[in-house]
Amino acid sequence: MTDPAAVEPTTFVLRARHVLTMGAAGHVRDGAVAVVDGRIAAVDGYAAIAARFADLPVLGDGGGILTPGFVSCHGHFSEGLVTGIGETHTLWEWFVHVVEPIEAHLTRDMAYVGTLLKATEMALSGVTTVGDMFCSAPGTPAITPGIVDALDVVGLRGDVSFGPADVPHGYPVDRIVAEHHALAQAAAASRRTRFRVGLATIPSSSDTLLAATRSLLAETDRLHVHLHEVREEVTASRTARGASSIEVAARLGLLDAQTVAAHCVWLSDDDVALLRRHAVAVAHCPVSNMILASGVCQVPRLLRDSVPVGLGVDGAASNDSQDMLATVKTAALLQKVHHQQADVLTAPAVLRMATLGGARALGLDDTVGSLDVGKAADLVLFAEASPSMAFVHDPYQAVVYCAGTRDIAGVWVDGERIVAGAQILTADVPAILPHARELAVELATRAGLASELAVT
Ligand SMILES: [Zn+2]
Repeated sequence: MTDPAAVEPTTFVLRARHVLTMGAAGHVRDGAVAVVDGRIAAVDGYAAIAARFADLPVLGDGGGILTPGFVSCHGHFSEGLVTGIGETHTLWEWFVHVVEPIEAHLTRDMAYVGTLLKATEMALSGVTTVGDMFCSAPGTPAITPGIVDALDVVGLRGDVSFGPADVPHGYPVDRIVAEHHALAQAAAASRRTRFRVGLATIPSSSDTLLAATRSLLAETDRLHVHLHEVREEVTASRTARGASSIEVAARLGLLDAQTVAAHCVWLSDDDVALLRRHAVAVAHCPVSNMILASGVCQVPRLLRDSVPVGLGVDGAASNDSQDMLATVKTAALLQKVHHQQADVLTAPAVLRMATLGGARALGLDDTVGSLDVGKAADLVLFAEASPSMAFVHDPYQAVVYCAGTRDIAGVWVDGERIVAGAQILTADVPAILPHARELAVELATRAGLASELAVT
């Protein structure tokens, strides 16, 4: 495998016709970013940067649009080998018929291969930071270190969690805790990945698992959890515990951690107040909410109420692509058609959710999410020499509505180039495809998904 750091410098000037910093400098025309040892040293007009950093090599032809790397703050690498199945199911049915059957059959090799493919797909769509929750049975040996190994190869920044459930299967909680610890250990030894405590949902957790999760948060004060994705979840929680999942989580102290909550579609006023009080961030996943007919997250209301909102591609079994640009565009379209109001969510607002909003949701906004001095050089350069980007009236709208993965000229993480000319530089995808196909068939067969496959 070629280490991009060995062939490309992490100290350079990157020039573009439009620099959308999503930070203090706003929109800089004919701008540039100076990168020194993988960190942003300056953001300004090109002339000023060229004068100040005259010794540095200049990348880019001066055209195109430069943005911060995108942050996808919710997804499931556990679904990396399960795509294009089950579109006729709503979430509860889909879980029973597609996802739950695979969870007992996932292996570390499957975690590695699925992550390698899906992380590459994300990188090719401009993602530089990925928040993930791997949902499987706890493994012996542990499964989830496979995610970290693959992210190290692709070069993405990771915020990874294991998302266990023990209702109704009754997986022993000590094995669940061991899987968390194995992932934490792997992340601690990784290039750019950190560990977060995960929990699939409140209704699929026993009181014992909830208590164990609370204990884990004393070690790592970060939580990734699904909350109120569908009405059935709220009903199940109220039926079993007499309160909504958000109320139960708050009562148990789970939301005192730095929490990213996926979906939050079905919210009462009290739920919103609790999210706000506990500074819980919402990972909005518009594509999976639409495929699974889950509902419409009230994004404008959450933003008005100062609830941080980021975007997630969600899992490969419920999107089913991992194309962040498609998620960005869909996020805008869904709110416009739902509210029947064209200005309810604009391109700059959506781009902010995809960058700084996601970084805030993961508690990483001191490191990534905007092009500000001192932050990591996580960058995406959109080329302008293409049919879709040939002319740009408004660069925000060009990125949100016009751009496709084919237009991505470069992606850098910590100043290391991992994508050039819409091609991944780090992972050898063609070499792994035959094995990936074998594993995908093996997983579907072992999980008994034959009836789902026959539907299509
Ligand atoms: Zn999810």
